[in-house]
Amino acid sequence: MRRLVMMLMPLMLVACESQNSEPTAAPAAVVSTDWDHIGFDAKEQRHSPLDLINTENVGELGIAWFKDLPDARGQEATPIVVDGKLYISTAWSKVFAYDAKTGEELWSYDPGVAGEKAVDACCDVVNRGVAINRGKLYFGTIDGRLIALDAITGARLWETQTTDNSKPYTITGAPRVVKNMVIIGNGGAEFGVRGYVSAYDTRSGSLKWRFYTVPNAEGKADGAASDEIFEKAAAATWGDGEWRESGGGGTVWDSIVYDEELDQLYFGVGNGNPWNHGLRSGGVGDNLFLSSIVAVNPDTGKYLWHYQETPAETWDYTATQPIIQAEMAIDGKMRKVLYHAPKNGFFFVIDRLDGTLISAEPFVEGINWATGYDLETGRPIENPDARFYKTGEPFIAIPGALGAHNWHPMSYNPKTGLVYIPAQQIPQGYEVPVSDIDKARERLGFNVGIGWAIGQLPDDKEVYKAAVAATTGQLVAFNPKTGKVEWSVDYPAAWNGGTMTTAGNLVFQGTSTGFFKAYSADKGAELLSLPMQSGIVSAPSTYMIDGEQYVAFLTSKGGAFPLVAGVAGGVTRQVPNIPRLVVLKLGGKAKLPALPEQSDVVWDPPQQTGTPEQVAAGKGLYGRNCLVCHGDSAVGNGFTPDLRVSGVLGDKQAWASVVTGGTLKQHGMVGFGSQLSAAQVENIRHYVVERSHWTKEHLPDMTAPTAR
Ligand code: CA
Repeated sequence: MRRLVMMLMPLMLVACESQNSEPTAAPAAVVSTDWDHIGFDAKEQRHSPLDLINTENVGELGIAWFKDLPDARGQEATPIVVDGKLYISTAWSKVFAYDAKTGEELWSYDPGVAGEKAVDACCDVVNRGVAINRGKLYFGTIDGRLIALDAITGARLWETQTTDNSKPYTITGAPRVVKNMVIIGNGGAEFGVRGYVSAYDTRSGSLKWRFYTVPNAEGKADGAASDEIFEKAAAATWGDGEWRESGGGGTVWDSIVYDEELDQLYFGVGNGNPWNHGLRSGGVGDNLFLSSIVAVNPDTGKYLWHYQETPAETWDYTATQPIIQAEMAIDGKMRKVLYHAPKNGFFFVIDRLDGTLISAEPFVEGINWATGYDLETGRPIENPDARFYKTGEPFIAIPGALGAHNWHPMSYNPKTGLVYIPAQQIPQGYEVPVSDIDKARERLGFNVGIGWAIGQLPDDKEVYKAAVAATTGQLVAFNPKTGKVEWSVDYPAAWNGGTMTTAGNLVFQGTSTGFFKAYSADKGAELLSLPMQSGIVSAPSTYMIDGEQYVAFLTSKGGAFPLVAGVAGGVTRQVPNIPRLVVLKLGGKAKLPALPEQSDVVWDPPQQTGTPEQVAAGKGLYGRNCLVCHGDSAVGNGFTPDLRVSGVLGDKQAWASVVTGGTLKQHGMVGFGSQLSAAQVENIRHYVVERSHWTKEHLPDMTAPTAR
């Protein structure tokens, strides 16, 4: 049986040519507006009615003002604008307020998250945004707090711990305010927690209700809003397995939307823990409510309906991706629907009334875990080979765990009827754990129940090239009515930014290769491509003040993909990572400062003192303990260090003090002394020394340090 299966496989992509657009009509009367909700309004279409910037003049956009941000980690927030003030949250859960016209900083708030908490964050210490309501600002912190501030002064009003901080819970998503409640979820399903959504009183911060997404280990009532549905039905969808120990996962780490028309609250539920359904649930049951959209009564948190997109989830196919509410004519009748493009690669149209599946069509090419959906049963038609824990054979899944679409927000333009999806191709191999290292359950790091050998590329230059070529991104304009891709734009790399669309017939998107772009919304003609010095992962927003329309977004590369990708990051490895808020307007004249000079690194690997057996042992340990933050082959990414040129690589004692002693814990590198022996730590060093020599010899283009 093949053990070394590459994480990323060459893949034929069907290129969809973008078409030239026709000039559009003159702009209509301008509507004055803020961007006062993370998704523009409760429907979260990320569509602005502003059209002062349009297809005729978008090429005249320049920088109105910009602000450098303190931390060179992922910046994923959408800027919120209310009454002339612009609010962002940043890495490490900090909040900043600016004058939206001039860029003057009004206040900032640092909740003081301890650096070592980063080890519990699967996907960087990011924060996707704040909620503003009636003069108060709400946001979550990476250590699980929900905080309310005075939006004018930045003074703290209240703070509540929403999680058990002895467990690896995190918060990265934005809260939503519904009636007199603030709704928040959490993350941590890679490490092993039990997911839930909570509602807190906006005035006092006291808990109003909680809905767990998976049953508790004892099968008893929690006194939670979800008790009844678990007693009636959901608990029976779980078999015996590790979920009882791990918590089962099912975290609600991003999308929560309120339906003002139907007075229902919807949220997307994440993957199971461990990923491996065979270990998690004995290979038995659908495991509600993993990978589902769940509707609850917002006043009580009581269950209304659910639709499970990936039953018996086993590939990290979360349903946490942004949910858009829309209306759609079906057989001559208008239906209230949800649009959803989760990791698993299918675009779902779901009836908001009762969760009925209306359609599920692929929005990317090459999906191989399922061939489609049976609309009668609402279930996927699976490829049996995809369930690696049943076949006992490795499987290269498309999409992989990073998804055909991840958290990067999509947008919907009611005029074109198209949804603009930041899509990507990142295949991934899955197999059952074979080594004792992968079988073990640890306090630190991922506990997902798969073999990590499969996550590392073999030493073959052609395979490396193929992995880079197979890892790409696309802007997909998807038509929910036809279930087809109307137009698309191919990008050379994955993990591009979220999208925004406007009444100016425009779609905006930043790229992981460092450009901020605009396209015509109807045809996909590129109308703007501004170099921004840094990769971009966030989504933009737009607003108008004193007759001028502005477009705001954050730059930085960051989040899960740059952490784990290693060589498959391709061209993005050399793109700088500059955390910055940038605001554009027509005729904007501000200039970004010159990039600092890159100093040449002398590539001088220390002598290899380990045996081939020790290097091999170190590779397994690296995959299990280090890979998800330092990347495949330890090649670095621009915001965690390139270990191949680490200053302590040649010094056994210094290396051990960093890896086990926690000397860099304020940066997130906690001590692994409790789960790695001295010999294991030394074997990891031997492996990284080997990587340093190997890349120098075989991949000289990979020896340049990643841009910082
Ligand atoms: Ca996950």
